[in-house]
Amino acid sequence: MHCYRHRENYAVAICQNCGKAACPDCCEDTGQGIACCWTCAEELQQTRRLNERLKQSLGIGAQPPLPASVPTYFFFGLILLVTGTYLSFVRPGIDFLTLAMAAAFFVMSAVTYKRFRNSCPTC
Ligand SMILES: [Zn+2]
Ligand SMILES: [Zn+2]
Repeated sequence: MHCYRHRENYAVAICQNCGKAACPDCCEDTGQGIACCWTCAEELQQTRRLNERLKQSLGIGAQPPLPASVPTYFFFGLILLVTGTYLSFVRPGIDFLTLAMAAAFFVMSAVTYKRFRNSCPTC
């Protein structure tokens, strides 16, 4: 395969942006991949920056995802809280058992979350 710009040179890499073959004379190492020209290098870096911003806004990469048990416990706690509150209204007296169970789930969720934060190696 020959360079798309220098017919006499053999291509050593493929541009990561446009997919053209490039020789050592045209190769631009962007740090993220090989580009065949400055325009492609710029575009590559822009794409990379865009991806990074997208990841950051989605919370990906900055932190490992939460263990699934945290939202699960929290969700159960929420259901029990709503149930307990509802039962306390429709029945005479406060439904302590359900509310206590709701509190227990919230505590479990918080404890799991805290343990996860403490074990996180990046922070
Ligand atoms: Zn290119
Ligand atoms: Zn070339």
